[in-house]
Amino acid sequence: MKTATKSDLYRKLPSVDELIRSPELAGALAREGPAATTDAARAVLARLRAEIDAGGLDAARLDLALSGIAEAVERQLRQALSYSLRPVINATGVILHTNLGRAPLARSARERIRGTAASYSNLEFDVVSGERGQRDVHVDRLFRKLLAGDARVAAGLRPAGTLRLRSGQARQSPVPTQSHAASTIVVNNNAAGVLLALNTLAEGGEVIVSRGELVEIGGSFRIPEVMAKSNATLREVGTTNRTRIADYERAINDKTRLLLRVHRSNFQITGFTEQPRLEELVDLARKRNLPLMEDLGSGALLDPGLLGITGEPSVLDSLHAGVDVVTYSGDKLLGGPQAGILSGRSDLIARMRSNSLFRALRVDKLTYAALEATLLAYVKHDHDEVPVIRMMRLSREGIGRRAEAVAKEIRSLELSVEIMDGESVVGGGAAPGAALPTRLLAVSHPDMNADELAARLRSFDPPVIARVEEGRVLIDLRTVFPEQDRVIAEALENASKR
Ligand SMILES: *Cc1c(COP(=O)(O)O)cnc(C)c1O
Repeated sequence: MKTATKSDLYRKLPSVDELIRSPELAGALAREGPAATTDAARAVLARLRAEIDAGGLDAARLDLALSGIAEAVERQLRQALSYSLRPVINATGVILHTNLGRAPLARSARERIRGTAASYSNLEFDVVSGERGQRDVHVDRLFRKLLAGDARVAAGLRPAGTLRLRSGQARQSPVPTQSHAASTIVVNNNAAGVLLALNTLAEGGEVIVSRGELVEIGGSFRIPEVMAKSNATLREVGTTNRTRIADYERAINDKTRLLLRVHRSNFQITGFTEQPRLEELVDLARKRNLPLMEDLGSGALLDPGLLGITGEPSVLDSLHAGVDVVTYSGDKLLGGPQAGILSGRSDLIARMRSNSLFRALRVDKLTYAALEATLLAYVKHDHDEVPVIRMMRLSREGIGRRAEAVAKEIRSLELSVEIMDGESVVGGGAAPGAALPTRLLAVSHPDMNADELAARLRSFDPPVIARVEEGRVLIDLRTVFPEQDRVIAEALENASKR
């Protein structure tokens, strides 16, 4: 009896064809086309069949479902055709938020991407000679300018000849030979850059690195694992908190190919600590005729001190100190597209370029387009064109005024909104200790806990991502574009409604 009932129910279902030709779906069919509409109709019918099969629908409930079947197909269509990757509003105050796509791009970078994407380009073509060219020439020339010996003043750095040490005091630097001839190549990300460099410079040999620098960067980038994949052997020296130059010196043997320093991007070791100064490592590398590489991670092209960040070395600092190869990300403090950048001694960079791994790790034309535009902003000193630089330079007072304007726009009587002092974070594995003073909107609702309020903000379109701390939702407008301030007020208003 039961199976017979089920087949009666199945018979009530329209065919896919009948369904998509129904007048209610004429609009959807015209808008989205027969392929997508048919898929959606199939999916909805399959769900109904499964429900019948599971005994979850009787005749009355099936009739009800069939009366709303066109809307169900429309819903399915909307879901199937919506983008999974979409913009969100970053109200966390974490400027380089790895989960939120790190650096938003400059307007000029977006325009270059659009222009390059829609057209053929001279990516690997020399327009003058009509012959095949190299894709890395497009940014190498700008890096040369930015990393040249006289670029320090332009970048807001101390004039050549003095060097601020990690500890903060200044001293005469060794003759800056390095950066005059620094050349640069670009790969997919900094992890790829480190892999390429280790494989090129140390395959089959040993790399000496301090135990205190064997870092894991979020998303499972671990120096020992990258080292293994590069076919180089890790030679750990020192202890977690203390490594001396003599430790490096003792570890050097005839298999040693490279000295590696890794910037402690996302943690600090404080207390009883010791690390050789960069200059000591440079001296040792020169004396023993070994290259010295530094994985900087964040890779600032502008003096981080100008942005209120202390203790963060710039790319120029490292090159000037005499580091042979520096690796860094394109989408951290540089504020460009995802990329791994290797700058340094031309002969070493040339070896990396001819490594077959480079072909596998190279970046596409859209990355070059965005990177070239971002670098041009630095060349022109148009630093505020780069959104992450602009955000770092925003004043606490300016952010406070915007927060007050947002608070005024909120009409909901239920929301309690307070403006308070707080700190924004650079994030993205840059300057772990740095905090930028800011003003926060602290929001709470009498009938909703902070997690629920935050979830409602995330379900807004566009999603608003905020922090939750001590039972309140905290909104930091430093990372919100000013034209989005209004959306924050709307999202809060909307979230407060039951
Ligand atoms: C961020 C970081 C990396 C990884 O860079 P990606 O561009 O994300 O691949 C590697 N090393 C250090 C020191 C970093 O800070």
